[in-house]
Amino acid sequence: MIYLDNNATTPLDPAVVEKMAWFIREHFGNPSSLYPLGRTVKDIITETRETVAGSLGAGAAELIFTGSGTESDNFAIRGVLEASPDKNELITSTIEHPAVYETAKFLQKKGIKVTFVPVDSYGLLDLDYLERSISPKTGLISIMHANNEIGTVQPIRKIVDIARKTGVPVHTDAVQTFGKRPLDVKDLGVDYLSVSAHKIYGPKGVGALYIRRGAAISPIIFGGHQEHRLRAGTENTPGIVGFGEAVRVLNERQDDDNRRLAELAAALKKGIEQKIPHVKFNGHPEHRINSTVNFAFPGIEAEAILLALATKDICVSTGSACSEGGEEVSQVLSSIGVKPEIARSSIRMSLGRFNTAEEIETVLNILPDIVQNFREISALDI
Ligand SMILES: *Cc1c(COP(=O)(O)O)cnc(C)c1O
Repeated sequence: MIYLDNNATTPLDPAVVEKMAWFIREHFGNPSSLYPLGRTVKDIITETRETVAGSLGAGAAELIFTGSGTESDNFAIRGVLEASPDKNELITSTIEHPAVYETAKFLQKKGIKVTFVPVDSYGLLDLDYLERSISPKTGLISIMHANNEIGTVQPIRKIVDIARKTGVPVHTDAVQTFGKRPLDVKDLGVDYLSVSAHKIYGPKGVGALYIRRGAAISPIIFGGHQEHRLRAGTENTPGIVGFGEAVRVLNERQDDDNRRLAELAAALKKGIEQKIPHVKFNGHPEHRINSTVNFAFPGIEAEAILLALATKDICVSTGSACSEGGEEVSQVLSSIGVKPEIARSSIRMSLGRFNTAEEIETVLNILPDIVQNFREISALDI
């Protein structure tokens, strides 16, 4: 199988599997228990928190483990607005992941004024629009770091500089940048930052939120005193341990991985452009995570390509999401001005640690034929 959907999720690193298996076998204790069985687990969680926080340039006291990247995003947005009830405005963008976008839509229904800042045809945020949108009532700016569909990376530092003029806090969803480029919360200057374990070869069902020391936030889940009293619920201890191991491996491999992935992705991109006529690259030529390769194949439904590739054991994703009750085009692609019929012909290939040059070669041998066959049988003009 050739897995080119690493932005959706990544396979577990073997070291993570091993570490989690060991932990599940040896440590079932509840970290809140006061006897040694619990204390040992608490110590392991503390150590893991240092590892994950450290990899982001944060202090251990600034990191909360959550149940997913989605929960981290929900927590940041709802928790920050909840903590400052006099501020009832939120600024975000038109190309956010549903974890942010749907949260913003929900809050909008609840009476929060939400500004969705537009992006240009490469997916880069309109910074002037953002600056003009800030008011004394703005409680939070939440802008994603790298986009999961097209890979465009926003200038978060610049956004923070704009926000600082008026003291508005900034959250960034960095789920897609974590592991793909060095991240440092102090360099970025953000107040809150979301990450997720299963996008960095760790387990599903565990994420983290960085909360800058002193930054205001209210819990959104209530119960016990776990996670500095900010996120109640018995910890997903095997998940957290797996997350820590994934980060440890990342720290060792990140630079090599990313150098290699940049080459593979460049070969894939160039191959598609050379071998297949009438393709359109979606995304920014430079300001992007290069392992994300999104192309439109005008004249063909993306889903047809996806299914044809699936019969060859190649996993990719469509740029568009189908919703019940009719076809809906990708919010991201329509935000960058891609026409609906072009959006519906777009395929995302996202590379990861375990992809090889041979796999890319195989894809470049198979994909052009698939596209050509569909175009031959299709009556559509391109
Ligand atoms: C995957 C993803 C999320 C959600 O993370 P989960 O852990 O799957 O909930 C949020 N934002 C972005 C940009 C993502 O790619």
